[in-house]
Amino acid sequence: MKKTRESIIKSREYKYNQYCFTTKIRKEQKIEKLREQNQKNTEYQIEKIKRKHQSDLSKKKLEYERKAKNELRALEGKPQREYKQKKRTRNQKLQFALDIAQEIVKLRDTNENGEAFCISCNQKKNWEELAGGHRWSRRIQGVCLELENINAQCHSCNFTTGPRGDKQAMERVNLIYDQNAIEKYGLEKWEELAVCKNQCVIDPKKYAPSEAHLNALIPILIAENEGWRKQKKFYKPKKKWQNIYQKMIA
Ligand SMILES: [Zn+2]
Repeated sequence: MKKTRESIIKSREYKYNQYCFTTKIRKEQKIEKLREQNQKNTEYQIEKIKRKHQSDLSKKKLEYERKAKNELRALEGKPQREYKQKKRTRNQKLQFALDIAQEIVKLRDTNENGEAFCISCNQKKNWEELAGGHRWSRRIQGVCLELENINAQCHSCNFTTGPRGDKQAMERVNLIYDQNAIEKYGLEKWEELAVCKNQCVIDPKKYAPSEAHLNALIPILIAENEGWRKQKKFYKPKKKWQNIYQKMIA
């Protein structure tokens, strides 16, 4: 068909309208997806708070019951009874070490006001909005305590890269995580960590930290944490790791 002035204008208008239509759909889809992810993240965070609340309640209940029993014994002139805490297992020590490591990382990555850029979306967030986000899952025990493997990450990205995150979004988030981590630690270190991770995946038992290893590591982590706490004045610590640890091993 021969091009005319009208046909050129018409074609341009047609193409533009088509572009408007497809980008509008894409925009709506993006917004919808973001809403969905945030909704899931909120539900997940609420679930976590509720679980913590329940466990706090049952712990306190037991504590008060024991105290009351001892008071009753005193009333009857009977000797007091000592309730010993159950001996901690390796898994509980690992969880404890992870909690300290995650606090170290947040202290390391935040500025003097407690703000940091999320490692995987580059948005500036404050202390409460940040998690100690693992690049290689915390379930890969051989690398879960490597401090380079944990970086300040916003809760939304942290959720996306977790077991309930959206697969496609996860890939995108991890890509930026890698880029920023390479800038932060250097390519060599980052590749070394990936190699370690692969070995751990092949033979998890071989590389998982033993209880003896954790016993040696935890005091080091506590000392490092103390150092960071002294540097970051904004932080009002709630937990005294050393005291908790003393009770744990008593
Ligand atoms: Zn983020």
